[in-house]
Amino acid sequence: MIEKMKYADVILPLSLANSYTYRIPQDMQAALVAGCRVIVHFGKRRYYTAIVLEVHNRQPQSTLEVKEIYALLDASPVLRRPQLRFWQWLSEYYLCKLGDVYKAALPSGLKLESETAVSCIKDFEAQFPLRPAEQAVLDAFSDGQKLTVSELEKKTGLRNVVSTLSVLLTYGAVEVQEELKKGFAPKLETYVSLSDEYRGHDALQKAFDLLKRAHKQELLLIAYLDLSHILNPTLATEVTKKELLQQSECSVSVLDGLVKRGILKYYDKEVGRLQVHISRLQPPQPLSPDQEKAYADIHESFKIKDVCLLHGITSSGKTEIYIRLISEVLSLNRQVLYLLPEIAITTQITNRLTKVFGDKLLVYHSKYSDNERVEVWNKLRAEKKPLLILGVRSSLFLPFYDLGLVIVDEEHEPGYKQQDPAPRYHARNAAIMLANMHGAKTLLGSATPSLDSYFNALTGKYGLVSLNLRYGNTLMPQIIPVNVKELKRKKIMKDALFSPILIDKITEALNNDEQVILFQNRRGFAPVIECKSCGWVPHCVNCDVSLTFHKFRNQLVCHYCGYTYQLPPVCPECRESDLKMMGVGTEKVEEEIASLFPAAKIGRLDFDTARTRTAYERIIDDFDGGKISILIGTQMVSKGLDFGNVSVVGIINADSLLNYPDFRAHERAYQLMVQVSGRAGRRDKSGTVILQTTQPEHPLIQMVQRFAYQEMAKMQLTERSMFRYPPYYRLIVVVLRSRNETVLQEQSLLFAAKLKEKLGDRVLGPVSPPVTRVQSLHIKKIVLKIEISANISPVRKLLDSVQCEMQQNSDYKQLLVHFDVDPA
Ligand code: ADP
Ligand code: ZN
Ligand code: ZN
Repeated sequence: MIEKMKYADVILPLSLANSYTYRIPQDMQAALVAGCRVIVHFGKRRYYTAIVLEVHNRQPQSTLEVKEIYALLDASPVLRRPQLRFWQWLSEYYLCKLGDVYKAALPSGLKLESETAVSCIKDFEAQFPLRPAEQAVLDAFSDGQKLTVSELEKKTGLRNVVSTLSVLLTYGAVEVQEELKKGFAPKLETYVSLSDEYRGHDALQKAFDLLKRAHKQELLLIAYLDLSHILNPTLATEVTKKELLQQSECSVSVLDGLVKRGILKYYDKEVGRLQVHISRLQPPQPLSPDQEKAYADIHESFKIKDVCLLHGITSSGKTEIYIRLISEVLSLNRQVLYLLPEIAITTQITNRLTKVFGDKLLVYHSKYSDNERVEVWNKLRAEKKPLLILGVRSSLFLPFYDLGLVIVDEEHEPGYKQQDPAPRYHARNAAIMLANMHGAKTLLGSATPSLDSYFNALTGKYGLVSLNLRYGNTLMPQIIPVNVKELKRKKIMKDALFSPILIDKITEALNNDEQVILFQNRRGFAPVIECKSCGWVPHCVNCDVSLTFHKFRNQLVCHYCGYTYQLPPVCPECRESDLKMMGVGTEKVEEEIASLFPAAKIGRLDFDTARTRTAYERIIDDFDGGKISILIGTQMVSKGLDFGNVSVVGIINADSLLNYPDFRAHERAYQLMVQVSGRAGRRDKSGTVILQTTQPEHPLIQMVQRFAYQEMAKMQLTERSMFRYPPYYRLIVVVLRSRNETVLQEQSLLFAAKLKEKLGDRVLGPVSPPVTRVQSLHIKKIVLKIEISANISPVRKLLDSVQCEMQQNSDYKQLLVHFDVDPA
């Protein structure tokens, strides 16, 4: 007899413990396996969808009563085997709970909680009198209605509906609805087909006879025959209502007429939202000799190493090389994950990939609706097919069957690091681990690699392949630093934002019908405003930062918490009305450009204008299609976009990038400036970049000018090793926050002292970050610098035990504490 497993450890979407033990009811013991979803009862009032981590027969240690699993949702696991391993690795490495990973990993449609719907059993008859609360719950249901636990709570006014429900469940009076069906509504599309009785030449002839006087309907029928190829069975395809109307240029009423006559009929079909209608796929482009060489080198590198860094300058054709590698892996029946740092750049790449891979391409990211995400999830779960998934970091959690290749494009982008909430993982590093678990290779691509990856390539951990020519021998842009300080001193620029040479270049570009990108890394109009007479500066009440003036909304905005304020008509301190706008944001650049070039069509791309996927896409499309000739924006304009007609790029103020207080500031500044410069240049003509700065002799500016990546890397690596920073040391930051500043100060000193006992001078702080208070919480950080070669698990244990000790302390409860491993 096979032994039945009595207990299941499950993951709840909570960050308390890693797992919780439940008893498996008799009738579930056969079907319940790891990776399935179950509904469990946790705490006083809530139901959760949990994931089974392990089933076993070990008697739980706890003296608390072990609850029973309430319902089993899946006949087969939602998670594939390597996924749980990946979750475990992530939670260990990034010092968070499995529940945090679970929350990040599954789309909501797959993890419904106390919103779980319940319905009552129609012909239930009580064998004994019900208690008032029980009766009240049953009365709350009208016929066949489903109610969620929280709805029931509201309707009955009862506090403890869940326990009442559990009783009713044991009576067989109510049942839990399987939420997957409710949470997921498939998308339908209407198709058109020929009615059965008109199939065949003769029957069809009759149809045409009927239509002799209905010319439009006749045309429509011809269009249908054309599109469907119904007379030629080898080519026959299904026809959607939409494409038929488009093709025939007829109105819906004409089509409805044909349906009424019974010649055509409608039918609905579930469509993948992500399915694309591409009639003919294009083969990958032939590679140039340099690309061919890089491609071969990557192959060679993969023979001996799992990870390869492709350092290819902007427009060298990295994407074309990816496409070749992808088709190869797909043809081996394996899957490919193509990661991008941001939703923002998926559109352009999606178009390029669709042309080659058609419906083998699935796109997955958070701006898609939850339904769309569930659909990708289910498709991957149901089919063991070679598919290409394009997505942002959360796509690491999809149920891949067999990954053969992971591509991390723009691998240097800080957007790969999840900031808040936990799991605070770095998607590039996690991708390498995921690939490992599948026996897949990872290709990292960038024109400006992160120093971390570059260091790994230099030390032989990764392969390194370089591509130093732009495709089609397009020249690299010419970068011209402009000394703004000098121009101001000579009174040539005064208060103006643009140097004369930048204005000349823009004028020239517009005259030639070419486009311009202007980069300014601050949004809003004026980053700071100040009272001219008393020096008062408006600050956020919740955060320790000054407010940015947004002229378009006519509001002051806190960029840390999003809180908005009205601009005061007079200074609240001295009652003078002279408020001075200081600094330059994208709105101000836009305003000045508009007054200098009133005829030009101007667009702005920043967090404020590109809040939604469609808004973003519209701006990019308008620029790509030439409807906008000057595009102003924040770092958003630097991101892997490929435009054909940009001849001038202006960097309005490079100083703010250089002076940022962070050990990565110079690496970032280099990457941003080179990336944004990379948008300039057309096939037949080199582009121009005007780089405005007060420090033209700054070594970094000169390196940007010469595209001297290796030099920059060497200089930065020397500094990093000297000051014990990554990639030589691993950083783990303990972030402590509290409303109470004094308690925070005391507790973080105590925390640091305990760490220092064991780790000595590897522990720095507590220190205050540049912004010391956000959303009413004061912040302290303790920084751990651990040798990269050292084993990290003792450190993890130490952090755990120190935290346990601290929790004995009642003041510590006033703190919110989390760990940030490898902060970006
Ligand atoms: P990167 O990703 O390195 O910035 P892309 O792959 O976007 O470069 O290539 C830049 C431009 O050159 C794109 O418009 C692309 O279509 C074109 N291109 C690159 N390689 C080829 C090729 N082998 N055949 C045709 N066009 C190419
Ligand atoms: Zn004042
Ligand atoms: Zn704020």
